[in-house]
Amino acid sequence: MTFQTILLKRVALKHISLGVRPNQYTIVHENPMWAIVDVLGDAATPEVAAVWDEVYWLMANLLINKERGLYSAVDLNPDEIWRTWGVVERRKETADTVAFVVKRTNPRPTNQSLPEPYVSLKMIMKGGVHQLRQHSPTAVDDGDHRQFAVKRVRGIQRAPDGEMSNLLHDTVKVGDRVQLAALFGDVVLNYSNRPLVLASAGIGLTPMEGMPSHKVKSHTHRKVQLLHADGDSGSYALRRQVEDSLAQLNEGKPDVWFERAEGNLERNENSGYMNIDNVDLPEDAEYYLCGPLAFMKLVRSALIARGIPAKDIQYEVFGPDL
Ligand SMILES: Cc1cc2nc3c(=O)[nH]c(=O)nc-3n(C[C@H](O)[C@H](O)[C@H](O)COP(=O)(O)OP(=O)(O)OC[C@H]3O[C@@H](n4cnc5c(N)ncnc54)[C@H](O)[C@@H]3O)c2cc1C
Repeated sequence: MTFQTILLKRVALKHISLGVRPNQYTIVHENPMWAIVDVLGDAATPEVAAVWDEVYWLMANLLINKERGLYSAVDLNPDEIWRTWGVVERRKETADTVAFVVKRTNPRPTNQSLPEPYVSLKMIMKGGVHQLRQHSPTAVDDGDHRQFAVKRVRGIQRAPDGEMSNLLHDTVKVGDRVQLAALFGDVVLNYSNRPLVLASAGIGLTPMEGMPSHKVKSHTHRKVQLLHADGDSGSYALRRQVEDSLAQLNEGKPDVWFERAEGNLERNENSGYMNIDNVDLPEDAEYYLCGPLAFMKLVRSALIARGIPAKDIQYEVFGPDL
């Protein structure tokens, strides 16, 4: 697959996860075209504008066709993407992370999820504007329930606090209703019997936890090894859930690195940044990474240096991918 194909697929999946319709491409068209003319100024002659226009519609039509195929593959149309769910559990995992369990309110069952997708949430912000954000399910859907965990994003260096994560933390409680979209994702767990090595940092653990939970439920026999990095033991969200899932799979405990390790460390715990140089890795494994970009670059380089082929390393990015 070329880079462009991967990028277009990622965009198309994000669009259908939000219920984007073909007629909305006209609205999108107006804004970049306005920006192009504004930035180019006098250089935006009618000929130049016509070329940009043509390029936009070439890309838009590619996406519209791709999205039509994706909607029909899951037997949904854009009007059916969003559903109302009721919050049935709210669990404080750490000072900054809350886990939510929601229950379906719509009579039509949802597809039981694969382990890799994300779910989109739609909320009305304090100013009255709709905002959308993605979250990774931390357990496979059973058709009725869905689970996800949200880290409160605090503004650093005078940037404002994250809008939706703070609204979720501050206002959403058991009994409330939330709008969730159908599940989609572009980081796909391949169906094979090869061992799986999952490496995460911080809240990047969420998609990783979905995978062992899927394995527990589907009774597959893939070996799973989890490597996790966190600030300290107090910021390690979903710890109990992850350890329970791995114990059910007889996989032992995850290898953990704490940046600010305190007190006595357990046998599976290390201090400092994740360092995989001395970690025993299974033969012929597939690797999935999720965490801040710097973490993923570091781990990916270390894996490549150990001879792992790049094709066997996939990663999930919690933001723009470039
Ligand atoms: C596929 C996927 C899966 C994800 N899964 C999870 C998950 O399981 N759990 C989870 O917690 N998150 C997850 N995320 C991240 C999540 O979707 C949100 O991006 C995150 O919660 C922040 O949203 P927010 O509305 O709180 O922050 P936003 O309001 O979107 O702000 C984001 C950042 O921009 C900064 N910012 C905002 N405005 C300005 C400004 N004017 N100037 C400078 N900086 C500014 C903020 O300080 C903040 O750091 C996932 C993302 C993706 C794409």
